[in-house]
Amino acid sequence: MASPVAHSFAGFWTFLYFASEAGLGVRMNWRRLAPPIVLLVFVANVADLDFLLSLYYRGDLNTLHHGFTHSILVAAGVSFAFAAIFPLPFASRFSRSSLIYLTAYGSHLLIDLVTANRLGWNPSGSGIPLFWPLQQEWRSPLALFIGVQHKNFGAILGIENALSSLLELLVCGGITAILLLARSKYEQNS
Ligand SMILES: [Zn+2]
Repeated sequence: MASPVAHSFAGFWTFLYFASEAGLGVRMNWRRLAPPIVLLVFVANVADLDFLLSLYYRGDLNTLHHGFTHSILVAAGVSFAFAAIFPLPFASRFSRSSLIYLTAYGSHLLIDLVTANRLGWNPSGSGIPLFWPLQQEWRSPLALFIGVQHKNFGAILGIENALSSLLELLVCGGITAILLLARSKYEQNS
């Protein structure tokens, strides 16, 4: 798994993309749109709540981690549930809200697929059961994110995770700044 920093940015990028498609510009009413942003960022992170399930049911952080919550089936179920309970204000239909939530959840699966202990071409990713209940684990041979250390609470709060989270913050924050600037310039010129 990458850190919540990368997953949160992916949730925010999902919002930016679909809000822009719905005709909302960069100068949109951010305060009014704060709730859907929070929801999409949450859904982009929700798969990793399996840490809490593992802690509750197995007494450790890892036994149930990278299990069924990291699958397309659960992603679809959670997305439909969120679309039914919290329809997004910039989505005209239930199916559109579902698609947007599914994109946010799917971004989590995609990022975890390309996460490993080292960046680059290497097979050290931990793998996720994308087509659960089938148990086969899937991973990409190309790693774009460094995996979070999560052996125990000490490892989670360790310096390695702080550094990889900082790197994600710088890279993803930079990408976000460029996206917003480019979009703002485009809106000024159109
Ligand atoms: Zn994950």
